[in-house]
Amino acid sequence: MEEIIIATKNKGKLKEFSRMLAPLGYSVVSAEEAGFTDEIEETGATFAENAAIKAHAIARACGKAAIGDDSGLCVDALGGAPGVYSARYAGEGHNDEANIAKLLKNMRDVPDGACAAHFECAIVCAFPDGREICARGRCDGEILHEKHGEGGFGYDPIFGVSSGKSFGELSPEEKDKISHRGRALAKLVTLLGEKG
Ligand code: IMP
Repeated sequence: MEEIIIATKNKGKLKEFSRMLAPLGYSVVSAEEAGFTDEIEETGATFAENAAIKAHAIARACGKAAIGDDSGLCVDALGGAPGVYSARYAGEGHNDEANIAKLLKNMRDVPDGACAAHFECAIVCAFPDGREICARGRCDGEILHEKHGEGGFGYDPIFGVSSGKSFGELSPEEKDKISHRGRALAKLVTLLGEKG
């Protein structure tokens, strides 16, 4: 099996990548397991740029294929914010609760019909020779004015989808099928498969 490095410390993401890449003959390891421990600054202006920065840095340093991803929430009424700043919307070192509280405050005066938002995800697989494959996924929905459900992470409890449920009320399998990350990963798997 060919080894592919995943630029994440998140065990859940590692498992997801492992599950989807195994049928293509790839076994996954984290950057840390591959001996890469440097912090990579996400200085890109787009999700794809940030994903590429991570993937190329690791592929170059380790001499193996590496995957980086970046994702976030874009709210129409806020001009696309928090966007690439989703993880640190309430400031460096703040948590999901603080990010949600800030978003709900900024959406307080926005009427129900004007709460459109979407999650975006970019996944880049970079190779040591500098080539790359990029896949994107998107999930449309709306910002809810209060939290619903206990599942998921990040902004899940305040992101409503067309079924009338929030991401926080979906099972992991239900979320994977329609989520920005699930869709991007499925596309990446197709592109990697075509590459042979
Ligand atoms: P990252 O791509 O793991 O760096 O995620 C960036 C940030 O976007 C996270 O910290 C969350 O705040 C938000 N985010 C990305 N994907 C999701 C999701 O599926 N649900 C909820 N929040 C998400």
